Amino acid sequence: MNREDFPMLKQDLIYFDNAATTLKPNKVINKIKDYYENYSANTHRGDYDISFKVDNEYENARDLVCDFINAKYKEEIVFTSGTTDSLNMISEGFFKHLLEPNDEILITTSEHASNVMPWFKLEKDLGCKVRFIDLDSNYHVTLDNVKKAVTPNTKVISLAHITNVIGDIRPIKEICKFAHENNIFVVVDAAQSIGHLKIDVQDLDVDFMAFSGHKMYGPTGTGVLYGKIDLLEDLMPIKLGGGMNESFDTPDTMLLKELPLRLEAGTPNIAGVIGLGEAVKYINNIGIENITNKELELRYYLVDKLIKINHIDLINIEGESGIVSFNIDGIFSQDVAYYLNKYQICVRAGNHCAKILKNATHVTNSIRVSLAFYNTTSEIDALVELLQDKNKIMKEMI
Ligand code: PMP
Repeated sequence: MNREDFPMLKQDLIYFDNAATTLKPNKVINKIKDYYENYSANTHRGDYDISFKVDNEYENARDLVCDFINAKYKEEIVFTSGTTDSLNMISEGFFKHLLEPNDEILITTSEHASNVMPWFKLEKDLGCKVRFIDLDSNYHVTLDNVKKAVTPNTKVISLAHITNVIGDIRPIKEICKFAHENNIFVVVDAAQSIGHLKIDVQDLDVDFMAFSGHKMYGPTGTGVLYGKIDLLEDLMPIKLGGGMNESFDTPDTMLLKELPLRLEAGTPNIAGVIGLGEAVKYINNIGIENITNKELELRYYLVDKLIKINHIDLINIEGESGIVSFNIDGIFSQDVAYYLNKYQICVRAGNHCAKILKNATHVTNSIRVSLAFYNTTSEIDALVELLQDKNKIMKEMI
């Protein structure tokens, strides 16, 4: 589907590492090129025509993102450098000022490092406690297990919408409803769902959400921090400097700008943000539901084949995202990745930055195939054929 839009796909290459970063379509690449070639000025600073054009394009990207996730106000969209940046801003800028010793933060063992370490830091800094919601037998999160993990001290639940190894889709809407009835904030790491699944922040009722542009066919170094407007008003900038201040003379007279610029200190990644806006347009043109359906179809096709191979242990048989993780009996995951690389197949091997997931799965490393809508069943056939013969893998892996 739409393969001709992606210049990388002209190479003799099978790209199955879309959870690490997606490929970029020509429209996004050309939009960035156009900025650098034709109106490469700074934003929110100049009083000349090309500078006004930059401001329009930059703010238009904010409008596009706002509509894309159905935020209520465009001021709720803050551009960051990615999910990691956004999650750190949320923990350091908001929760650091709110949480007290013995308050509890609920996460799971299948979260990415970026949704674990900022909370561990708060535990170290404030004396609050990070606790884990139990995963079910498929390593999924259920509302029941969330309810069981909540105590009167729980103040925040921070979860990936889709996790990056198990690929499970969490019941965020139901969790938000329950959490809000109990005065608990919900933070969502949407790094793996954005661009793959329809996200409506008002319908889900999330308090904060973080995602990266490069995982939704947009440029690297871009991301979004979404927060409900009244919460974002209380989020303290963790970066101070140009572009975010109204005036300053002394330490006591620093006056900051209104949202969202207050949280975008310094010259932003202008080309990237404009490119991200174009990525949103690109997804809208294809239709997010068409992307979801195609990826689901590919997942079922792949799982159906892998499940029949005796020497393959599938970690996440159940699931509805394009992420499929597995191991080959007795072979180190990275050796399998090197073997596939000889045939120009890109997969990811290792712990995938989910370093405490092993506490639940008892599997330290795995091979991860992460699909995008531009992958094909014949690419999957080529992969499966190479994985079928264990002796061949053993012989060729070094
Ligand atoms: N959360 C999840 C679930 C992820 O998969 C990733 C990226 N692998 C991140 C957070 C971090 O994203 P980034 O590196 O773009 O900040």
